[in-house]
Amino acid sequence: MSKKRNDTVALTVMRYSPGTDKAPHYQTFDVKPTKDTTILDALFQVLDAQDHSLSFRYSCRSAVCGSCAMFINGRHRLACSTLVSELGREIIVQPLPHLPIIKDLVVDLTQFFERYEVVKPYVVPLKSPPEKEWIQSPKERDRINDSTDCILCAACYSSCPSVWAGKNYLGPAALLWAYRFAADTRDGVLNDRVGLVSSEDGLWRCHTIFNCTEACPKSLNPARFIQNLKRTTAKVTLRARIPFLR
Ligand code: SF4
Repeated sequence: MSKKRNDTVALTVMRYSPGTDKAPHYQTFDVKPTKDTTILDALFQVLDAQDHSLSFRYSCRSAVCGSCAMFINGRHRLACSTLVSELGREIIVQPLPHLPIIKDLVVDLTQFFERYEVVKPYVVPLKSPPEKEWIQSPKERDRINDSTDCILCAACYSSCPSVWAGKNYLGPAALLWAYRFAADTRDGVLNDRVGLVSSEDGLWRCHTIFNCTEACPKSLNPARFIQNLKRTTAKVTLRARIPFLR
């Protein structure tokens, strides 16, 4: 690790170029933060002035696109909303763990989004939508609650031991979205949705470990949404088997 001057912070970044490097390695850069410098800003300082080959993903810089999720000082965080000043003078930045690395801090999210698509993450109405808005009561909206705040950053997916197990488990984010649409009063295909998440790779592979909740940089609780989805699925399955249960 390099020796720091008083106004600098040592930013250690995991570097890896599959196909070129035999294994990941770490490189330390001195950066000069102000009190408002974020980890993303610090990575740009390195990119612009020290190493043009450093690769990382970003877009909105406002914690709403989810692109810059990384593993920073041992925690899943968004680089754009994490201040250097919160983390001390030695910072280690790694890509999201347990995901294939494309280069440096950029991971391959293909499988994450394929699994998200499995749950049909959109409203499928059975009747034609009204001419104006489709009114929901506050109580109906409450059922969806803050699930709509998910920014698909994949931090929860990267933190989940059932995902690490290497099967085809849908993962916390996809199941959160499955619940979000199953609970939406405008949606008309609940039975189909229950079928989509009930396979052996679906929601029953969640062992309620809560890593996802710990990892979420938006302070959501995917484990709770999965529990809600388990309850909904159990009710729908029971009703199908014992029709007089309403
Ligand atoms: S639930 Fe949280 S951690 Fe998971 S994808 Fe959504 S915002 Fe990211």
